Amino acid sequence: MTIPLSNGNGLNGHALPSQQQQHTLPVVSQQPTPSTSTGIAKILIVGGGPAGIVSLRNFLQDESAEGGKEGLDAVLYERREELGGVWYLDPSTLGLEEKNGYPSNRWPIATPSQLLYPSPSYPALIGNVFPRFLTFSGHPFEKPADQYPTLEETYRYLSSVARPLRNHVRTKRDVRQVWELPYLPALSGEEGALPRSGGWLVHTADLSTNPPTDLYEHFSAISFCPSFTTHPSYPNIPGLAAAMRLAPRKIHHAKWYRTVEPFWRSKKVVVVGNGLSSNDIAAQIVGRRRREWGEEMREGEEQVLRALRHDYVDMFPSLPDARYRDIPHVTRIDLRPSDDASEPSLDITLASGEVVTDVDHLIWGTGYQIGVYDWVNVLAREPTQSDVAALSEAGITLDGDKGWRVESQLNKESLAQATTALESLWVRLTPPARYPTEDKAKSAQALLPTVTTSSPSPEPLDLLQPRRVPHLHSHMMSARNPTLAFGALIISATPFVLADLVSRYIRLVWEAEPSSGKGHILPSTFEERRKDEIVRFHELEKTRADLEAGSADALSGSETDDSRIKPKNVVTVNGTVLPALPPSGLLSFHVLRDQELPLQCRFRNTFLQYKPWLRNLIGLRDEEWDEVEREGHRKSMYSEKKKWLQRRRDEERLHSQEKKTNGSS
Ligand SMILES: Cc1cc2nc3c(=O)[nH]c(=O)nc-3n(C[C@H](O)[C@H](O)[C@H](O)COP(=O)(O)OP(=O)(O)OC[C@H]3O[C@@H](n4cnc5c(N)ncnc54)[C@H](O)[C@@H]3O)c2cc1C
Repeated sequence: MTIPLSNGNGLNGHALPSQQQQHTLPVVSQQPTPSTSTGIAKILIVGGGPAGIVSLRNFLQDESAEGGKEGLDAVLYERREELGGVWYLDPSTLGLEEKNGYPSNRWPIATPSQLLYPSPSYPALIGNVFPRFLTFSGHPFEKPADQYPTLEETYRYLSSVARPLRNHVRTKRDVRQVWELPYLPALSGEEGALPRSGGWLVHTADLSTNPPTDLYEHFSAISFCPSFTTHPSYPNIPGLAAAMRLAPRKIHHAKWYRTVEPFWRSKKVVVVGNGLSSNDIAAQIVGRRRREWGEEMREGEEQVLRALRHDYVDMFPSLPDARYRDIPHVTRIDLRPSDDASEPSLDITLASGEVVTDVDHLIWGTGYQIGVYDWVNVLAREPTQSDVAALSEAGITLDGDKGWRVESQLNKESLAQATTALESLWVRLTPPARYPTEDKAKSAQALLPTVTTSSPSPEPLDLLQPRRVPHLHSHMMSARNPTLAFGALIISATPFVLADLVSRYIRLVWEAEPSSGKGHILPSTFEERRKDEIVRFHELEKTRADLEAGSADALSGSETDDSRIKPKNVVTVNGTVLPALPPSGLLSFHVLRDQELPLQCRFRNTFLQYKPWLRNLIGLRDEEWDEVEREGHRKSMYSEKKKWLQRRRDEERLHSQEKKTNGSS
């Protein structure tokens, strides 16, 4: 076997703005010459939420009658027993969580017979998105009973899209590790549109057996749609890690929230954050109190404390409520031994220096760690003869010019040996998730009586540091090896629509030879393909500078109909003026905000050029894509949701007054 030598581009990284350099990957064969066919024969979609479902539908669609191609050969692996992702709440897992005692922050839940991965949503969830933006092209969303669809209605919609795709879905199939396989000259096929690729070795666990069965397969291309909600995000503040370990019934994350039941009666509840989840959870707690205890706060009742890093943002609607008290963000947690409870007492220190003692529940609505792909191993260098020998030893062999052949039941030990021997061949696509770390000395101290301090600890700035999946074309496909795609990496206000457009674009690229003969879709060089990444760095630098300067531009994506929104670099909480920390989404690499609609239009325009017949589908028609109208309608979702919340509260008020009157008459 002859091993190709490096094409001279070496393993050098790219000159990036200083802050991003830490996430730069080595780059192999940036500009493959000659470009050869990838022979996309078998595609894997990882994850069966909305993005995975619509990707599968779009990949499989037979377009030959319209002058296009037959569908691609694709299969979807989902680790739960049903498709639907966030929108699928299965009663048995809910029951189990209830039995374990809400909230259950053990994830996945291991029972003697199975592994369960509960959805991060809850039965009372009412969406924030208009049905128009939950519509996959050609498959209208049935009119919901109210203005915003419920969890149940959204799940029903997804099921109706997924039903005909059943034969291409494997549930209870957990994708655990992925390795990029090297391209070797023996694989060269016909001249094609994509850079060369040896495809992907995929390790999955079949969770339908007990214990799970390890399986290994080869795929030509992968689209990852595995959810951004896998890893909750917490600030790394002193005492949090110890509190998570020693007081697990008091420290929660929105990911584990299922019901208001464990919280609403408790005396001191702190909800951290004013994003979608934190606002909804806080509203559910005070709503329940209002229904049970009446409009007025009752004797001895304490307000729900809302710990804020920044002012209210209209994208995350909430109503003012006398049952709330806003407090500055939490900078430190201390535990004290407690006689009368199974868990220590919990005190929190705020950015103002104030200490709130005996907190019953501290609920973090601080979002998720986006873009954690440390389980995807990409090539770090060109392979050597001995690498190929080690792969073959492990059961991964070259099958003439057909490509890599992987024995499905690879010997785990020899694979482990091979991957150790080959360690330097691969590098993780991203760093692993970060969780608060426990300082042993501090955690021991934490159990001692609290020493209150008036000097606040450092800001939890770690929430704001940019992390990203590096070197992407159009934010969704590896610029180096486009057989690696991300169907759901961009965090969107309209994720259903975006996933539909992204997957149609991915298909276009993977078809490699567009039937219309209009040429290649991807730019021919690595640098051109990753142009959007560089543009994004500059946007983030500008946002950061604007935020530092306290400029209102930094929040230009928000409407300002809410009198509480005052874009500025301070936040006033209870009369204390504090430096504000911006909403973490503003500096998050994969949250494109105002740049998202232009990108959506670019995807749509590109595939319509090659597939004009798609223009007739509901969801893709020209009249639905007037940018000004579309963006205006999207933004109105938030002010409308606020009005909707107000209407619902008024109705509840009226209802309880009527009940009272009827009761007294
Ligand atoms: C509480 C909450 C409320 C929300 N409200 C709204 C709303 O009102 N409107 C809206 O549009 N969006 C809302 N969202 C956003 C929501 O994430 C998207 O609507 C949508 O579900 C994203 O789809 P997805 O397919 O990318 O991810 P998900 O829906 O998260 O689905 C991902 C799937 O991948 C599977 N998976 C993950 N890893 C693996 C693996 N290694 N192997 C196999 N399978 C795997 C998971 O089990 C899951 O089924 C909300 C999210 C949350 C958490």
